[in-house]
Amino acid sequence: MNNDYINIINIFEESERLPNDKYCLYPEKKYCRGKIKRAHTIQNNKILISVSDNGNLIALNGKSAIGFQESEKQGRGVATTFWGFCDYHDTVVFEPIENYNYDKSLKQTFLYTYRTFSWHYYLKETQLNKNNYIQNKVNINLKNNDYFLGIVLGSSDNKKIKEKIDAAILNKNYDIIKYYVWEIPFKVNFCCCGMVQLFKDLLGNDINNYEELLDINKPMKNLFINIFPEKNKSYCIFSWLTDDFEYDNFTIQFSKLTLKDKINYMNNMLPKETDKIFINPKLWNKWGSNIQQSFIEWANISILCNAMQAETKKKMKWKYSFVPWNLFDCSEKLK
Ligand SMILES: [Zn+2]
Repeated sequence: MNNDYINIINIFEESERLPNDKYCLYPEKKYCRGKIKRAHTIQNNKILISVSDNGNLIALNGKSAIGFQESEKQGRGVATTFWGFCDYHDTVVFEPIENYNYDKSLKQTFLYTYRTFSWHYYLKETQLNKNNYIQNKVNINLKNNDYFLGIVLGSSDNKKIKEKIDAAILNKNYDIIKYYVWEIPFKVNFCCCGMVQLFKDLLGNDINNYEELLDINKPMKNLFINIFPEKNKSYCIFSWLTDDFEYDNFTIQFSKLTLKDKINYMNNMLPKETDKIFINPKLWNKWGSNIQQSFIEWANISILCNAMQAETKKKMKWKYSFVPWNLFDCSEKLK
């Protein structure tokens, strides 16, 4: 290995140890009160307790090497937390979803979307700061590197979304989002709060266009996914900005699938599109190491899959395809 390479690995590791930024993302800063606290993306007392085992969860956002996902056991006090709200705003703004069951209302759904977005916004800004730190320390120009450029573009997209969301909050005008709720007739043993960018709907029509990935004037269209158990059932909430109308069709198509196909679609799609999945260790252990390994590999090949899918000009309709894991396993053995 040459010295430049060793140097860049060291700088990368240094950037991982930079202190966390702490700020409040809420638009009305003048009302901020209290310290910036570790805000939970997923309700700690309701959802995380229900999904965890002895206070532990399997998280997929651990990192084994640059950019690659690995599973990691995390305490529910740490998983899904970020330093993005002051004490007052974290408590007051999210009170309707912290203290009340999900009622499928626009306001609650907006809050789920807002919190998922805020977490992803925070993580993207953190990554941008790390990349700037690396760029300032190395002699190589990384600005046009696909990964570095991707973070810059993602951050720019997010700032535009934040403007819309902030205005919606201040005007209490929540219908800037649309949503679809899949009510799952049993309790799942995992939760998810992802912000993803699908390339194709179930009939093979474009949602995002692979060729426009690096075009700063073409923001990515995002789908927000919140999945969680509540009482004896579970909810899978898809929400999106009304401008991104392609997801209207996607959710109409999804809603028409049978229960078995819905589950199969999600088992295929979720690990590829998001690492914001938190699994009950009992379910994870039940899979055994071979299935765990293939799940992680599946999660890591998403870029390749999307690129291959984009190359086929033929419209590919989604169809049932077997995967060895079942996130939606609710068998008695797990209890
Ligand atoms: Zn605040």
